[in-house]
Amino acid sequence: MTDVHKMYADTIATPVDLAAHTDLLGPRLAGQLRCLFPSGRAALWGVSRGRNDANVKKAVRIEPGNQAFFSGDRKLYLSGQVAATFRNPQLARRLWGADTDDNTWEFMYALNGVRQHHLPMDELRELLGWKPARNVQNLTHLSEVESALLTELLQLDPPIRLDPEPVPDRTPPDTDADTHSEPDLASAGTRVADMREDVPARTSTCALCQLQLPAGVLRVHAVKSHLACSQEERESPDNVMPLCALGCGELFTQGYLAVAPGGDIQVSPYTTKNPILADYVRRNLTAPRTPWWTPEREPFYAWHRERVFRLPPTA
Ligand SMILES: [Zn+2]
Repeated sequence: MTDVHKMYADTIATPVDLAAHTDLLGPRLAGQLRCLFPSGRAALWGVSRGRNDANVKKAVRIEPGNQAFFSGDRKLYLSGQVAATFRNPQLARRLWGADTDDNTWEFMYALNGVRQHHLPMDELRELLGWKPARNVQNLTHLSEVESALLTELLQLDPPIRLDPEPVPDRTPPDTDADTHSEPDLASAGTRVADMREDVPARTSTCALCQLQLPAGVLRVHAVKSHLACSQEERESPDNVMPLCALGCGELFTQGYLAVAPGGDIQVSPYTTKNPILADYVRRNLTAPRTPWWTPEREPFYAWHRERVFRLPPTA
């Protein structure tokens, strides 16, 4: 019999050495986990099938990319991001034993970005509009809206990272090259998200300063204000740019910076006149041009230059 606290201490607080369990993980899953967790250790959690399979429906709804929340003792105490899910009764038995019905915690989750919290259940219920009696135990599956609210409140990193690559050319991928692709992971009972634990994979690049920053410090900004956009423009992938919250996002949105045809970064005279803004630009905007400019994006940048970019009156 394993209690939740011991399970927590054994495989969350002390991440599991994956190499010690390659025999039960199998080469494919072991390889995937090694990619997701370059340190070789992963926080693991499991859910048992429960009496009469009571937990199964809930357990299989938890997917890679989900935020996972743990609560108990009248508070939400832990969050993490589900990087991989798999079913492995043998490994669960080795790690945690079995319950009084001889069920193992076989629905398993590898988590990254694990963080501790102290959010009282009362506050959580109020935020999510839950009835006073509603409670959650251990790993809980929340709706998208609930998850988004908590992500905002606790300032969690976004579960799906931004695509850091501007789209250099628009030729569709060669479909023939896909014939040797990996078999469907879902059918193998294993699902994996593209979310690595270490910094390099979890960072993205600001389109203007081009600094590598944690994905949560970047925001997707519209180039042309949504207020002025047609429906089509609003949904266009050409009208967005990831900009850092350290300064570039605000400076661009407020017209202190703009992008010229070809991608040169333009600095407003109002920026250079202000010593603090000038200093930010001098320190951080070391590249003269953004790789995000394309002919398709130019109309959006042009709108921004003409309407928003701050220029002094000309004689
Ligand atoms: Zn930036």
